[in-house]
Amino acid sequence: MLLIKKAVTIASKLLSSKKNAKSIGFVPTMGALHEGHISLINLSEQENDTTVCSIFINPTQFNDAIDFEKYPVTIEKDILLLLQNSADILFFPSVTEIYADGIQNLAHYNLGYIETILEGAHRPGHFQGVCQVVYRLLNIVQPDKIYVGQKDYQQYLIIKKLLQITGLKSTIVLSTTLREADGLAMSSRNMRLNNNDRKKAVSIFDTLLFIKHNYQNIDFQILKQQAVKKIMEAGFEKVDYAEIANAETLEPVNSLAKNLKLIALIAATINGVRLIDNILIN
Ligand code: AMP
Repeated sequence: MLLIKKAVTIASKLLSSKKNAKSIGFVPTMGALHEGHISLINLSEQENDTTVCSIFINPTQFNDAIDFEKYPVTIEKDILLLLQNSADILFFPSVTEIYADGIQNLAHYNLGYIETILEGAHRPGHFQGVCQVVYRLLNIVQPDKIYVGQKDYQQYLIIKKLLQITGLKSTIVLSTTLREADGLAMSSRNMRLNNNDRKKAVSIFDTLLFIKHNYQNIDFQILKQQAVKKIMEAGFEKVDYAEIANAETLEPVNSLAKNLKLIALIAATINGVRLIDNILIN
């Protein structure tokens, strides 16, 4: 595996792949890698000649300074894990490499409705930051395919929109969420949970299953209220949302409708650690 820190170096390395019509798969991450990230790398490996993984904790997507400060950094472990899992290139740039002109006055993307709800509503500016970094990374790597996880479903829709509005040529591939044995979605933020909170954290997934099993029998408004209650009773201090939405648009849905693909999404905080998860429910 090559470890590359400079954009010009990775671009020139990948040029020969492009000249020889070899396909490039790209897995952007913020590090603190776990099996969920590795599943994306494995999928990219299966579908492409070359797989690039990036590790970059993007400062512009953190709306909360404490969250940024406490974001786990485990680069030595990450490199070992990548070596065991045959990524071809690790791109590990510095902040100045990505934002040569600083992080003020960056481009604003017109993302429309999708940016105004759920994560967008609770983390102002977050998706602008995601677009600012993903646009730069895609321009550097120019992959045929970019691989993302369903755990960040709204981010998937945002990147899809970014590809549309910028005309970037990559195709986005959505991959399933990897879970711990009890169902908790794997996440870099899980490292910040103490043993007690780790046990309680599974109530997010349990509640998503509760919605999935009951959406045909219980009024949606009541179901959402019951979902919030369940998570609070499990010991979370805050539920930002427990929503049932149209999986194509993320517009909230308040009653059963035929032929509508539904997704349940939850964001909740336990002991200062904010976790998100979702499942498709029909
Ligand atoms: P992050 O490092 O959290 O920014 O995530 C990098 C990529 O890994 C994103 O596309 C995430 O959606 C994806 N990802 C994170 N957790 C999981 C998981 N448990 N299963 C599958 N993909 C994941």
